Amino acid sequence: MASSPSKPRIVVVGSMNMDLVVRADRIPAPGETVLGGECLQWPGGKGANQAVAAARLGADCAMVACVGDDAFGAVLKGGLVREGINVDHVRTAAGTASGAALIVVDAAGRNAICVAPGANRLLAPEDVCRAEGAIRRADAVLVQFETPMETVAEVVRLAKSAGVQVFVNPAPAARAPDDVLSADVLIPNASEAAAMSGLEIDDPASAILAARRLMERGAQAVAVTLGEAGCVWVDAGGALQVPAFQVPVVDTTAAGDAFVAAFAVARIRGDDTPMALRYACAAGALTCMRAGAQPSLPGAREVEAFLYGNPS
Ligand code: ADP
Repeated sequence: MASSPSKPRIVVVGSMNMDLVVRADRIPAPGETVLGGECLQWPGGKGANQAVAAARLGADCAMVACVGDDAFGAVLKGGLVREGINVDHVRTAAGTASGAALIVVDAAGRNAICVAPGANRLLAPEDVCRAEGAIRRADAVLVQFETPMETVAEVVRLAKSAGVQVFVNPAPAARAPDDVLSADVLIPNASEAAAMSGLEIDDPASAILAARRLMERGAQAVAVTLGEAGCVWVDAGGALQVPAFQVPVVDTTAAGDAFVAAFAVARIRGDDTPMALRYACAAGALTCMRAGAQPSLPGAREVEAFLYGNPS
C-alpha cells in the first residue's frame, strides 16, 4: 500500500453492503404492503463503514472485501475509491449479488432490517492471504463478523504472526473461537459483549465484568461501547469508564463503526488509552448527529473542532 510515513496505515477486512432505506408511517406486518417515501441508496456494511471512517480521520486505508458483479458492486467499490481507499484487494465475484440491506424506518425512527450478505459470504481466507503484503505493512488491521468466521480467524492469525495490531469488532454477535477473540483490542457493543460473555449488561460496572470475562478468552484489552452511556475499557492494568458526549441525536447508525476506526487511528498516532477513547467517543457522537451510515461519518478536522470546543 502506497503511504506517507506520517499517516496511520490501516487495513480493513470486512463487508460492503448497499443499504436500501425507505421511510414509512409504519413497518409492514407479515403479508401487508405499506406505501413509503423515496428509496434511498446508501453505501454501508460494517467493513466499508470502518474503512471510510478511518480514511476520513486521516488514515492511509486499504479494504479487503468481496462484491458482486452487479451495479451495486461497482457503486460500492467506486465509493471507496472516491474516499481515497485502496481497493486492490476488493474482489468482484462473478455471478454473485453484492451484499444489500433492506431497511424500513417508521415514523418513530424504529427500523426493521433484512440483510442479504451476498458476496460478503464469499470473502475467503485466500482473499486475506492475497492481501498479506498490505497487512504486513500496516500499523493495524480491523475486522468484524459480517464475513465468514474462518476468514476472520485468518485475519487474526496473519496479523499476529506479522506483529501487526488487530482490532476485532465482533458485530453482529456470533459464536467465535477463542483464537478470534484473542485480539489486541476487542470492541463489542453492549449486546454483543452480553451475548459473548453470557452476562447481563445494564450499566458500566456490569460491562466491566463482561469485558473481564472476554479477556479470560484471550483478548489483550476490551472496549465495550455503551451507546449514550459512552464506553468502558479493561486491560491487564485495570478498568476505565469514559462518558459519552451529549449531542442532539438524529440517527445512531454507524456510531460503533466510527468508534472502532477512530480508536484505531488514535492508538496508532500514539494517543494514550483515555485520550484515544475520548477521541473515539467524539467520532461516535458526531456520527449520531446525521442520518445514514457513511454520509454521517466525521472527518479529522470535525472531530478535533468538536473536542476542542467540548473540554469535558
Ligand atoms: P453500535 O453502533 O455498535 O451499537 P454504540 O451504540 O455503543 O455502538 O455507539 C458507539 C459509540 O458512539 C459509543 O461508545 C458512544 O461514544 C457513541 N454514541 C452512541 N450513541 C450515542 C448517543 N446517543 N449520544 C452520544 N454518543 C453516542
